[in-house]
Amino acid sequence: MLETVAAPEPNGRPDGVWSMNTARAESGEVTVAGVPVSLIAAQFGTPTYILDEADMRTRARAWVEAMEKAFTSLAGADVYYAGKAFLSKAVARWMMDEGLNIDAASEGELRTALAGGVPGSRIGLHGNNKSEAEIALAIDSGIAHIVIDSIPEIAKVARIASERGRSAPVYVRLTTGVHAGGHDFIQTAHEDQKFGLSVTSGAAYDAITQIAGTPGLKLVGIHSHIGSQILSTDGFAEAAKVVLDVRAWAAQRGIEIPEVDLGGGYGVRYTSQDAVPPAPEEFAEVLAQAVRAHCDATGLPAPRISIEPGRSIVAPAMMTLYTVGTMKDVATDSGPRRYISVDGGMSDNLRPALYGANYTAAVVGREATGAGCRSRVVGKHCESGDILVKDVSLPPVEIGDLLAVPVTGAYGRSMGSNYNMLPRPGVIAVRDGQCTVLLRRETIEDQLAYDLG
Ligand SMILES: *Cc1c(COP(=O)(O)O)cnc(C)c1O
Repeated sequence: MLETVAAPEPNGRPDGVWSMNTARAESGEVTVAGVPVSLIAAQFGTPTYILDEADMRTRARAWVEAMEKAFTSLAGADVYYAGKAFLSKAVARWMMDEGLNIDAASEGELRTALAGGVPGSRIGLHGNNKSEAEIALAIDSGIAHIVIDSIPEIAKVARIASERGRSAPVYVRLTTGVHAGGHDFIQTAHEDQKFGLSVTSGAAYDAITQIAGTPGLKLVGIHSHIGSQILSTDGFAEAAKVVLDVRAWAAQRGIEIPEVDLGGGYGVRYTSQDAVPPAPEEFAEVLAQAVRAHCDATGLPAPRISIEPGRSIVAPAMMTLYTVGTMKDVATDSGPRRYISVDGGMSDNLRPALYGANYTAAVVGREATGAGCRSRVVGKHCESGDILVKDVSLPPVEIGDLLAVPVTGAYGRSMGSNYNMLPRPGVIAVRDGQCTVLLRRETIEDQLAYDLG
């Protein structure tokens, strides 16, 4: 069992868990990019997601710079921001400004990226069961590539492309058999799951041959995504080798594949007990070494490489701000525990309930001193599994205190729900002392408006 520890002090240190512009002011209150959290709470209410814009941009740029540096002597590299982690029109625009492209996995993500001003040529489309409308919109917008995820999809994409009098650039998603990442549900490269075409079974080779012989489809790349929240570089190198072997197999049959996408899944630190993940430069260098070694061995020209980080760009840039509503102390076999109830819960952060994910929390509206108490931060939903922070040492907390959970930028708002008919919180971006509403808070009126009686 892990020791009960307090959150690291909110000070934006790179080895901490708070975004780079998070700091504790002299008053004892925490600020984000110079804006006190109490001001955000007063103006926008709680719960609210607070996004440190400069932090997110910096993380995005770091990936682009690392990949450019590692791959200049090869055939170059692209970084696709995985929009499913968190996307809004502004975020799509920021990522484009920083030199990234966007990965979309649904019509909603695709249309949000387009509405943010990202051209189709800088967007890739994923999904294991894409609709007609999704494929058609992707083709019409001049998408960079559609990632084919199953055999029946080959004919479907070809038909939709021909109906529109265009050809569709496609990738094939391979399952490499490489296991990596956190929970079972976020490991995506083993055989017995829904994504991709198996290399082991031969389905991947069949797909490549079939696509190469299908008019209207242009095979531009092969793709692998091995999982998520991965904290070591090993799996990526291993998967790269499998994908490059498949590319070499195709080349022997006269099928040239110019691009290789090695997916996302780069991990982050959620609590001070998590390992510090390798930096983007380290991942980029490992990928470049794998590509260089393979090309040297096979004599094939280097492919253009892309990667798809989501979590590692946005997770640490965001925190969720809550207000404490009530508390109770219980006795457990392992000693006393304080339950601290806040005004959100599993509807704004499903990850603890879905994956058993660990987070930490801190009192941010004031300097809270006093002996730490073993605490559990819970939401207001009708589920006993509605836990936000399983175990954290918190100083004496008072009703009405502002509590923040850091590292909630990825898969927080984007996996949010209206369970118990709670309106989903807004997302406030903060930069240089200025707040911008990226997503406004939903209202009960929004929900009543689509309830047609
Ligand atoms: C989810 C996903 C990503 C992003 O994963 P992160 O863990 O957020 O980096 C990238 N590519 C594909 C195909 C995905 O499904």
